[in-house]
Amino acid sequence: MTDFLQADPDNLSKDDKELEQILRPLEFKYFSGQESIVDNLKIFVKAAIMRKESLDHLLLHGPPGLGKTTLANIVANELNVGLKVSSGPVLDKPGDLAGLLTSLEKNDVLFIDEIHRLNPIVEEYLYSAMEDYRIDILIDKGPAARSVQIPLEKFTLIGATTRAGLLTSPLRARFGINCLLNYYKADTITKIINRSAGILNVPIKDDAVFEISRRSRGTPRVANSLLKRVRDFAQVIGDGTINIKIAKHALEALNIDKYGLDEMDNKILLTIVDKFSGGPVGLKTIATAVGEEEGTIEEVYEPFLIMEGFIKRTPRGREATELAYKHLNRNNSQNTLF
Ligand code: ADP
Repeated sequence: MTDFLQADPDNLSKDDKELEQILRPLEFKYFSGQESIVDNLKIFVKAAIMRKESLDHLLLHGPPGLGKTTLANIVANELNVGLKVSSGPVLDKPGDLAGLLTSLEKNDVLFIDEIHRLNPIVEEYLYSAMEDYRIDILIDKGPAARSVQIPLEKFTLIGATTRAGLLTSPLRARFGINCLLNYYKADTITKIINRSAGILNVPIKDDAVFEISRRSRGTPRVANSLLKRVRDFAQVIGDGTINIKIAKHALEALNIDKYGLDEMDNKILLTIVDKFSGGPVGLKTIATAVGEEEGTIEEVYEPFLIMEGFIKRTPRGREATELAYKHLNRNNSQNTLF
């Protein structure tokens, strides 16, 4: 499986990062799917504008590529306030956080991606900033050390995480709004591909959109990356239009799984089916076998595999379904009576 199918932003090329910026919707009306989250956010944003107050702190969690950064951008834009962006691993000193917080203007949004990776000391500073809009900074060392309290403008922290399970409870408790993003249905991905194709000015036929959408792992980031690659094939070996023939040829040539599963999805399925006779097998055992963290499998990979019907969660562990056997071209001998 090729790297670009990864929904993880860390694995994106410079080109793909630029593409993300171009395709990122900036208003709620261009953000497809996640209807209940968007409906609620629209109300909260409107109420904050009416009261001329900052929006409550917002936590967005869910697998990579589903639109957390996009929603943070939209919220700031719809609130008509400034947006400062950082991420957990980058903010490793309290001074960095203090600099960022003191640069915020009234009601601005501070977006911290991968907030579960914040240094615990920095996280402690964030508590008083979020709750009381002040930070206490320690100046000097030894006997001359003293604490200085810096007042802050009211602001909204938007935290994004793929691993809500790793968030400490004091941090989690400080978010007034908590939204879990889910994988997108194929028809929503279809809409997103059509919008992106329009922005990129690539003619595309409906059946080709459908073909790309069902191989996109329910993830807008993957859908946009695939569209971009298929466009290259259409330009070089076709007449520039993406039709079903070109789409199928390109996806085949790029070795894209026909169900949209990525390398880790397939590794998990192969482990359950081949090493553990289809299960049931515990999460810990699967995690050790595939070399991934238990929580990442549970929060990032498993929801998609369950949603698409490849595995079942049972009280005794995870089990592969008939669909998993069919996908891997394996015979489910357990279900054969003779
Ligand atoms: P995350 O922060 O969850 O990893 P992003 O917000 O960076 O994901 O989204 C990845 C890409 O997918 C962006 O280019 C964005 O434009 C696109 N995208 C995500 N969600 C949607 C959506 N609901 N509608 C349209 N495009 C979307």
